[in-house]
Amino acid sequence: MLNWFRRRRHFAALDNADFPPFLPGHVWLVGAGPGGPGLISLLGYHGLGQADVIVHDALVSSALLAMAPKRAKLIFAGKRGGKPSPKQADISLQLVDLAKAGKRVLRLKGGDPFMFGRGGEEAGALARAGVPFRIVPGISAGLGGLAYAGIPITHRDANQAVIFLTGHDESGSVPQGVDWQLVAQAAPVIVMFMAVKHLGSITEKLLQAGRTGDERLVIVSNAATPQQSVIESTLGAAARLTDVPTPAIVVLGPVSAFREQLDWYVGAARSYRFG
Ligand code: SAH
Repeated sequence: MLNWFRRRRHFAALDNADFPPFLPGHVWLVGAGPGGPGLISLLGYHGLGQADVIVHDALVSSALLAMAPKRAKLIFAGKRGGKPSPKQADISLQLVDLAKAGKRVLRLKGGDPFMFGRGGEEAGALARAGVPFRIVPGISAGLGGLAYAGIPITHRDANQAVIFLTGHDESGSVPQGVDWQLVAQAAPVIVMFMAVKHLGSITEKLLQAGRTGDERLVIVSNAATPQQSVIESTLGAAARLTDVPTPAIVVLGPVSAFREQLDWYVGAARSYRFG
């Protein structure tokens, strides 16, 4: 890791269009990537170094937050799986207030801010309030988390399409807006976020919609951290799983077979088969 002085010189030598200055009164909505600190983008890291206030969620690694300048104020605005947490409207309001007070506000979210991360809602609130903002995309857990388990999200021998799905909606139950019949048929690979709590009913719906019980289903927990663990199961058996560590990404479909060859991450704590 570059030290502060060298890093500032490093970015200063680069084009302002690629690495713009973080102006007071602006909000940068930045994806931190999944797991450890290394998966944030260079632009996100550039923003982190200039922020006055960092409003972060629970999935952002503490090692990454430790890389923020000492003068930056850290504010936790997390939401974790149904537990009481700040209301989305309050978080958005806080971002607006901080920006209007002239701060450089970095809103740091796990993975990518627009992938099941409510980034769209926060950006909408900023737009309505006339606060200038920038979106800095991140590596979603639905991509990077799989890569850390040696699972290519697409492979020419396996799939030409992928579906990203959330396992629960605003009310905390299995999303009503999903047509399981269509989803089950639309793509061989289905990547599911926040799906552990309702895994039983989700797998049941996919089975009813025609997917088969012996299909591979892999769960990657705490991806890209030393606590990463992987459960290799099947669609038919997964409903009986208990105590799956979270956060976790669930992957259904043939691409997880490549893991046998591509499981490269030596930092992983453990992996086991179920079913
Ligand atoms: N915007 C995030 C997703 C936020 S929703 C992204 O793009 O990754 C939160 C869900 O993301 C979790 O319930 C889990 O399904 C997934 N997730 C986030 N970080 C993860 C990690 N390190 N390992 C496994 N799953 C993760």
